Amino acid sequence: MPMPVEPAPKSCYWELTRRCQLGCLHCRSSSGPDVTDPDLEAAFRIADQLIAAKTRLVVLTGGEPTLFPHWERVAERLARGGCLVRLFTNGVGFTRGIFERALAAGVTQFAVSLDGPRFLHDRLRPSADADIPSTYDEAAAAIDAVARTEWKLRVVTQVNRLNADALDQTYEILLAMNVKRWQVHLCQMTGRARDHRDRLMSDPADLEKSSAC
Ligand code: SF4
Repeated sequence: MPMPVEPAPKSCYWELTRRCQLGCLHCRSSSGPDVTDPDLEAAFRIADQLIAAKTRLVVLTGGEPTLFPHWERVAERLARGGCLVRLFTNGVGFTRGIFERALAAGVTQFAVSLDGPRFLHDRLRPSADADIPSTYDEAAAAIDAVARTEWKLRVVTQVNRLNADALDQTYEILLAMNVKRWQVHLCQMTGRARDHRDRLMSDPADLEKSSAC
């Protein structure tokens, strides 16, 4: 008689907020500066449901999750409840201080977005803030800060018509940054990406060329 197996989610991507400093062309959640965040009690209710479902990994994303005022409290609650917690950041303002606060809250994995070399990343991920002249430099600094530690880091690249040709160059950049895990996925034509569909939607033939690199 086979033992009954209780189904449990392997992972959950939780868009903690839609608040973000950037206005990426491909943003699937159309994130930006003006949003209303859920309150802490609402966030705790969701965290408790994920814990009760025995979710193995919760990826805190957004928007930029570190802009959610209670992100550490939520991370701490999930970690104490037995979930692995990954913080998925765009890297803007991701200082050593934020890194240490994340560790203290129980985050054990980190993911940072990088969409190619500087000129491409900055084109795809513009910031309206004059104090952030290059979002690539911000992401690179965040990657460097985590890659120097023993903590799990992955870099995530979404692929579209504008950056598909630069995948081999991106690979070399990540090698030089000592990145061990690289997650590549196709740009999803939802949210703001839909508004830029003509510029972003890859031609399948071009993708085949890129995958042959
Ligand atoms: S893709 Fe990520 S970093 Fe860019 S606007 Fe959307 S949430 Fe912000």
